[in-house]
Amino acid sequence: MLHAFLHVAVPGLVAFTFYRPRWLRAWLVLAATILVDLDHLLATPIFDPNRCSIDFHPLHTWWAIGAYALLLVPKPTRLVAIGLLLHMALDYTECVRVGVVAPGFAVSVRPHLPAVRG
Ligand SMILES: [Zn+2]
Repeated sequence: MLHAFLHVAVPGLVAFTFYRPRWLRAWLVLAATILVDLDHLLATPIFDPNRCSIDFHPLHTWWAIGAYALLLVPKPTRLVAIGLLLHMALDYTECVRVGVVAPGFAVSVRPHLPAVRG
């Protein structure tokens, strides 16, 4: 529930900080990017608090995130791109919370241990 709140509050903070005086309009655009979560409807179960969304749902894959980064370039799509990337960053914090540090990569997160010399 805190996570859903952050998807509304953090865009509000970004909009209020960087998009005054029309921050309310910017907030609406940024918050509307939560629609990207419609891809959860393709998953079973639709909601799983212990699942890492990044690189799991189609609109949360690294390919999609790369496309969102490209949308930063043209000015008309920039605000939507910021909203989508902000969304992915917030979803990533959930991945870390459930213990997935590098979603989609088979990377060991074990700490480096010094070599044992015999
Ligand atoms: Zn999401």
